[in-house]
Amino acid sequence: MTPLRIAIVGYGTAGQAAAVLLARDGHQAEIFERAPEPGPLGAGFLLQPSGLQVLWRMGLLDDVLSHGARVDRLYGETPCGRAVMDMRYAGLDPRLCGIGMQRGALFSILDQARGDTVLHAGITIEGPDDADDRWLRDADGGRHGPFDLVLAADGAASRLRGRLGGVRRDAVYPWGALWCLLDAADWPHLTELRQRYVAARRMIGLLPVGTRPGDATPRLSFFWSLPIAAFDGWQAAALDGWRASVASIWPEASALLASTTTHAHLARATYRDVTLSRWHRGRWVLLGDAAHAMSPQLGQGVNMALLDAEALRDALRSEDLPAALAAYARVRRRHVAIYQFWSRWLTPVFQSERDLIAKTRDVAFRPMGRLPGGRGHMLRVLSGTQHGVFGSLALAPEFVDALTPSVR
Ligand SMILES: Cc1cc2nc3c(=O)[nH]c(=O)nc-3n(C[C@H](O)[C@H](O)[C@H](O)COP(=O)(O)OP(=O)(O)OC[C@H]3O[C@@H](n4cnc5c(N)ncnc54)[C@H](O)[C@@H]3O)c2cc1C
Repeated sequence: MTPLRIAIVGYGTAGQAAAVLLARDGHQAEIFERAPEPGPLGAGFLLQPSGLQVLWRMGLLDDVLSHGARVDRLYGETPCGRAVMDMRYAGLDPRLCGIGMQRGALFSILDQARGDTVLHAGITIEGPDDADDRWLRDADGGRHGPFDLVLAADGAASRLRGRLGGVRRDAVYPWGALWCLLDAADWPHLTELRQRYVAARRMIGLLPVGTRPGDATPRLSFFWSLPIAAFDGWQAAALDGWRASVASIWPEASALLASTTTHAHLARATYRDVTLSRWHRGRWVLLGDAAHAMSPQLGQGVNMALLDAEALRDALRSEDLPAALAAYARVRRRHVAIYQFWSRWLTPVFQSERDLIAKTRDVAFRPMGRLPGGRGHMLRVLSGTQHGVFGSLALAPEFVDALTPSVR
């Protein structure tokens, strides 16, 4: 296909990955990011085999493995030690794992790979110019263009998706989280995502996320669940009271918070449930959370953003523009749908005031994973490789081999 002039709105993982992949195919990309100093927001995340395979195909897996932490197991329990969730990637393939990463680490790796693609920082894009959708309009009245294709990768709270006119559902979850990075110190579970639950009212998560360029201290991503209506109350109260609540649920986790002395140390996270009837209109197309925001309960959003960018690049290689956008949306919607379904159902099971649901979860979640068919499905959903209701996303043997040396 002839090289296109492409605008990318948003420099999160979706925008970053698209910038790298499309520039490598010879397209002329320009990025518009509203933050004056683009950088990662939040603490850490778990990369799944699905997303890691994209990074492998981009030639970035070694960089990722040199900073990330190998995660073999997801284990959740009640404060009295009753196991609620216990999943191991080895149940799918002994060589598979997730990789916990600091947001700053993946941001730097993708930013390095961007090369000389132009990044315009501090520009908020409002939408297409009313008269000509080849042009972008910014919040200060500026116009940018003309472009052959515009990627709207402006995140979960996207203001651009409404402009494409296909929003079926866009709801903010009533529960969110506080999160931060902590020094891993002598934390004993360095290959596991560990969670503790008190019904669905309290949840603490600790995920090993390795190091980042310029900082060799291994860290953990700490997650504390709470209703978004309680954010301000938490901020107004003394931190000691909150730390005592953490200690009552998980004393070892509370010890890690010793250096957390101000509220500003923890960032607030809210999340949305977004479904669309269309992912593209004219020459504008949605990527990442802008297209399919979901709760982080399944830990898939970064992986989806990487898969989106790669699928769009592939579609542009083989079709003319309108057909390529339709092909991209078809491929990605089919993969995303099952994760949207499960994250919608699972979120209140882990974050809500529904005690009966939580009690049922405590009793039934592990046995469900042992039912015929149940275990494989749960593991494929976890690893990002469930595709549609019955299919699975293929992992190349060479990729799985490349992941294996990360065993530490
Ligand atoms: C608590 C929490 C834990 C999570 N854990 C995981 C996990 O373990 N694994 C996982 O895979 N995912 C996880 N996620 C989800 C993941 O963080 C997101 O799905 C992913 O970051 C989405 O990337 P994105 O590029 O689509 O959007 P974003 O990263 O939100 O990037 C959007 C960018 O667009 C910019 N922007 C917005 N509006 C405009 C505009 N009008 N003009 C110009 N720029 C604009 C923003 O400044 C931002 O830089 C988690 C999310 C949360 C909140």
